[in-house]
Amino acid sequence: MLLVPTMEELREVGRAAGVDALAATTADPFLEVRTTLERRKAEGLHGGMAFTYRRPERSTTPALALPGARSIVVGARSYLVEDPVEAPPDGLQGRIARYAWDDHYAALTQGLNAVAAALRACGWRTRVLVDDNALVDRAAAHRAGIGWWGKNANLLLPGLGSWYVLGSVVTNAVVAVSNEIVADRCGSCTRCSDGCPTGAITAPGVIDARRCLSWLLQAEGVFPFEYRVALGDRIYGCDECQEVCPPNRRAPIRAPGGQEMPWAPLLSLLDTDDAVVLAYAHRWYIWRREVRYVRRNALVVLGNVGMGDDPKVEAVLARYLAHPDGLLRAHAAWAAGRLGREDLLMGLDQDPDPLVQAELGRLP
Ligand code: SF4
Ligand code: SF4
Repeated sequence: MLLVPTMEELREVGRAAGVDALAATTADPFLEVRTTLERRKAEGLHGGMAFTYRRPERSTTPALALPGARSIVVGARSYLVEDPVEAPPDGLQGRIARYAWDDHYAALTQGLNAVAAALRACGWRTRVLVDDNALVDRAAAHRAGIGWWGKNANLLLPGLGSWYVLGSVVTNAVVAVSNEIVADRCGSCTRCSDGCPTGAITAPGVIDARRCLSWLLQAEGVFPFEYRVALGDRIYGCDECQEVCPPNRRAPIRAPGGQEMPWAPLLSLLDTDDAVVLAYAHRWYIWRREVRYVRRNALVVLGNVGMGDDPKVEAVLARYLAHPDGLLRAHAAWAAGRLGREDLLMGLDQDPDPLVQAELGRLP
């Protein structure tokens, strides 16, 4: 008979490999979560988001990730590091959400690989899933007793907050599970829903992806007009509902040690070759890896943070107003209007693209 490492032994291995919290649950399907995903999808709240919404049956059935799965060992790794001391000099920067400052998923994968290796050393099969659509990782972490569901739909670890990336080791070993769900600690707090710049938190734990800036930056098509100003300087992700969360304000900071990248240079994202931009943003989720979406977002942020009389801004706007891609011409037209440079739009009324015409139609 094969031995199963105890949770204490697995935690020890995980801790040594940089995993801050580790707990286990059974590999039973997440039937309630599947129903929720299907309902929200039917209501359109997913806003076209794929990820675990793509195939809810798959993402909520651990045995489809690993045949014969009996347990899920869930790990969490903090990505909270010190804020940058200062912004880079020219000020035309887009802000990146904390989880994307460095490759925290790679570090977590490494940690969970060590946990998986300890199980495999005893003869068990394993599959490590990190940032993977094959498993609803937050639901697994909740059932494993790692934390509670915040009203902002993040998982909050008691005393530690939600600045964590989550991942799992699915295994056919029967690991000791605690079965202790962490009770809700949000109480009457509503700071996340009050603080969301677009009102995307429509009920406790329910995010309308069609309004969530984090998803809108990743979604295809036009960046919705009504949320462009609210986007502010965010070029990738949105931390607002975590920044305002009281437990997060008391969360311990992980010592920096990676390649933190809190800002993205806007003009470079607009001026540099496609391949260079995509290489720079290699960790970002970009719709079909089409560079036009990085540029679209950069144009919206430019409209929010640029100065209309800056010659570099003027030059980049002029270039994008003549860009062969109508989507980019349209967003450049918005940025030019927002920066008071309607003069740059001269001649655009002949543009055959309906997206451009829609932008011109909105100008005051
Ligand atoms: S990520 Fe930003 S936009 Fe999305 S729900 Fe949170 S605060 Fe709102
Ligand atoms: S801001 Fe308040 S309500 Fe929202 S997740 Fe944090 S504790 Fe819960």
